[in-house]
Amino acid sequence: MALLLALALAGCTRDAPLQHAQFFVLGTLVEVTLYDVDAAAADQAFAALSTELQHLHRTWHAWEPGPLTELNAGLARGERVVADPDLLPLLRSGREWALRSGELFNPAIGGLVALWGFHAEEPAERRVPPTDAAIDDWLAEAPGMRDLIIEGDSVRSTHPRLQLDFGAFAKGVAVDRAVARLQALGIEHAIVNAGGDLRAIGRPGDRPWRIGIRHPRAETVLAAIEVSGDESVFTSGDYERTFSHEGRLYHHILDPRRGRPAEGVASVTVVAPQGALADAAATALFVAGFEGWPAVARALDIDQVMLVDPEGRVAITPALAARIQFEFDPPALQVVPLDDTR
Ligand code: AMP
Ligand code: MG
Repeated sequence: MALLLALALAGCTRDAPLQHAQFFVLGTLVEVTLYDVDAAAADQAFAALSTELQHLHRTWHAWEPGPLTELNAGLARGERVVADPDLLPLLRSGREWALRSGELFNPAIGGLVALWGFHAEEPAERRVPPTDAAIDDWLAEAPGMRDLIIEGDSVRSTHPRLQLDFGAFAKGVAVDRAVARLQALGIEHAIVNAGGDLRAIGRPGDRPWRIGIRHPRAETVLAAIEVSGDESVFTSGDYERTFSHEGRLYHHILDPRRGRPAEGVASVTVVAPQGALADAAATALFVAGFEGWPAVARALDIDQVMLVDPEGRVAITPALAARIQFEFDPPALQVVPLDDTR
């Protein structure tokens, strides 16, 4: 959706073509748009991105055998494991952001994600939620990133149930890596869009990129923002990776305090410079919910946030409210300052 909007706008500018490529990686379609780049340079950039993204896909996959499943197996055996160099940054920033978010963003949650069946390609109609006993069993242990000891390039876990899952921010890290690669090739104007979550650099000509934010309850755009320079826009939603069982819909963002899908929020959008933090924060704030999100936003140093509840009501920070354009009016709009005095 973001890409379509970006295209519509950039299409107005003549003599500076856009180049596109698509890659299916990390469980999503990654669409890359380059502006003001000739075809040969674009081909070179797309080849480099294809190699890099495929590599990250293999390295970070939570259940297809590879570096992360090997690391998880070693941690489960209580071993000290030398981490793949492309896993280390996720371990470090994942640990830091987990602790800052009060472990609402908790990449040590792999065991629980697997319990809910999100580590498999099982058709949605055959899925069932785990039993209360199985959830309680995980909650009694509740591994967190505090249990992960990182020493140089090796890691160990003080908790036998700790299993890593980077699904909550791998897309963000990948988008950052892709943008860094483009910049290293001298490309200044681009969007790397991973299924609606994106980082944009530069601008398509004399106007900004225009980025659409999806409505969580309709296949349409809820709002748009203009971006020029270097910014990331990431959304976590309860409409992705769902299954229903006995009339109830279950989604993939789990509240580590309850061991169940987080409730009360339909989507959270975060705008921040870095894709990785925007992605991690969107997940953390989704779990924090309408009561807890301002404190977690402050702890993560995030100042542009929008939450939408299942009825379409919106809570938004002043910094994002100042620049967002709603496509239609939400039933309620609350601007929530983030200062510590509240
Ligand atoms: P996102 O769409 O970025 O919010 O990420 C959701 C994905 O992150 C899920 O598919 C799980 O793999 C993983 N996940 C679910 N709940 C959490 C959580 N509380 N903390 C960290 N990762 C989570
Ligand atoms: Mg996320």
